Amino acid sequence: MKDVRVRFAPSPTGYLHIGGLRTALYNYLFAKKNNGKFILRIEDTDQTRLVEGAIENLIDSLQWAGIEYDEGVFVEDHKVVQKGDHGPYIQSQRLDIYKKHVDQLIESGHAYYCFCSKERLDQVRDEQKIKGLVPKYDGLCRSIPIEEAKKRVANGEECVVRLKLPHNRDIKFYDIVRGEIVINTKDIDDQVLLKSDGFPTYHMAVVVDDHLMDITHIVRGEEWLPSTPKHVFLYEAFGWEKPEYVHLPTVLNKDRKKLSKRQGDVSVDDFKARGYLPEGLINYLALVGWSPEDNEEIMSMDEMVEKFSFDRVAKTGGIFDKDKLDWVNGHYIRSSSVERISKLAIPYLVEAGYIDEKFAQENTSWIETLVDTVKESVSYISEIPEKVKFIFDEDVEMEEDAQELLGGEQIPQLFNAIVGELKTIEEIDMDYAKSFMKTIQKSTGIKGKNLYMPTRAAITGSVHGPEMVNIIYLLGKDKIIKRVEKLLNK
Ligand code: GLU
Repeated sequence: MKDVRVRFAPSPTGYLHIGGLRTALYNYLFAKKNNGKFILRIEDTDQTRLVEGAIENLIDSLQWAGIEYDEGVFVEDHKVVQKGDHGPYIQSQRLDIYKKHVDQLIESGHAYYCFCSKERLDQVRDEQKIKGLVPKYDGLCRSIPIEEAKKRVANGEECVVRLKLPHNRDIKFYDIVRGEIVINTKDIDDQVLLKSDGFPTYHMAVVVDDHLMDITHIVRGEEWLPSTPKHVFLYEAFGWEKPEYVHLPTVLNKDRKKLSKRQGDVSVDDFKARGYLPEGLINYLALVGWSPEDNEEIMSMDEMVEKFSFDRVAKTGGIFDKDKLDWVNGHYIRSSSVERISKLAIPYLVEAGYIDEKFAQENTSWIETLVDTVKESVSYISEIPEKVKFIFDEDVEMEEDAQELLGGEQIPQLFNAIVGELKTIEEIDMDYAKSFMKTIQKSTGIKGKNLYMPTRAAITGSVHGPEMVNIIYLLGKDKIIKRVEKLLNK
């Protein structure tokens, strides 16, 4: 087998969709597994859809996700740079290359100039639609003699160049996931290859670039499957060996519809902002449309590289199941160090208004205890503020079953003891917090459920929750006194 070279070729039209991230991931896994090279190429031939900063954002998202590539477009010192000996890797910088190849196709009779106006094309389409036909170019300009067409071009007449597909011919290719695919040219349009603005279309550029960049396997979303026969025909027209094809199933939502922005998070940025860990998102995404032979679900990047193969990529849409993502990500949060999760949690705590940067810097160990207290119960980092809200709130919100516990006859004695004991000390440190409940037990003789449950209810407003020692430490003297005294004075 030739040295494997694969590419991810996004268009810089905004953010990186998680479906795109999964395409990049499968390319990466396949390249790594086969000691191949992975290339990032930017497909910006549709100048009307460009978004400022999108290239930087794409690269940033890939980097965050831990997907490294060997050649192509990078960002260094806030500047977009290119590396590798198959460049340029940004299509708008390769216009002369496409032009040369389009000319070659015109000379060999595989392409032709088309002078049809937009109005005419619209009219043709409308008529076809009325007749119930698939709208496509009717081929009017196919028969213009080449010399005449060239004269018209030289005279400055506006035109495009179209692919001259043979009539009624089966185009066959093999897709590693889907097997042999046959499409007849009667179902394919004479695709525009070069637009009137001198830019190639995606179809022209993708074929030329994949060939010149020595790409061996095209791994992309299944939405490109209908375009592949045109590409295959172009390889033939140029006399080039065509690459292998792998079309990946679309990432779908639970209703089996394409995951779209209208239904919520779809971009890598969205998931990053919610505080998913890159390894959690990547691990989960790998499973949307692929599973390893041993059906293992939790895998590091290295394990995925080792286990990855296209044989186990599904033919039909992979369902994006947020609950499962949360389960996978929760696993990674639980197995991460408290130091790491605390650092990641700080911006969310600041945003919630619970702490400020200065406090965070000066109270690392307090914040680590805070985060450690709830770390087991969150699926992503932005859930943390809600979980620790009861520590920061001035007053507790009393749940019903907590309220019920406060009527016991031992309560006045218990609460008075808590307040009395706390008033004798300066502040609660961890050692004191550890012995506090024992101290109260000793001084009151109240124990077990009668001691712990109402105390938890009084200071947290709930009958369930994390470790009491941590809560006592985190709340501190003043807050506990305030909460308990308020109940005593009711
Ligand atoms: N530029 C295309 C996209 O945005 C790439 C398709 C391909 O990989 O061939 O998805």
